[in-house]
Amino acid sequence: MGDFNREQTVVCRKPHRCDWCGEGIEAGQQAVSGAGMFEGEFYSYHIHPECAAAIARDSDIDDMWPPEYQRRGMTQRETDEAQVVEDQTQRGE
Ligand SMILES: [Zn+2]
Repeated sequence: MGDFNREQTVVCRKPHRCDWCGEGIEAGQQAVSGAGMFEGEFYSYHIHPECAAAIARDSDIDDMWPPEYQRRGMTQRETDEAQVVEDQTQRGE
């Protein structure tokens, strides 16, 4: 049996934590719900629609998501760039 991944947009009946950015998804909000099989392991997730859009345009993502949470609605690269700008701002550059 091969790997598979199914995604659909749902309205959450109970609160979830976004698996991309770590922020809450309230009950009654829209979320992208996915489930699949990767190398024999079943997985499922809920993410914000804007996080799903970020993932869709993140060409760096191959099979695995980054291990840390990213910024809401941002790709991994955008998160890194935002962090760099914040660090510079904090140092007064
Ligand atoms: Zn999110």
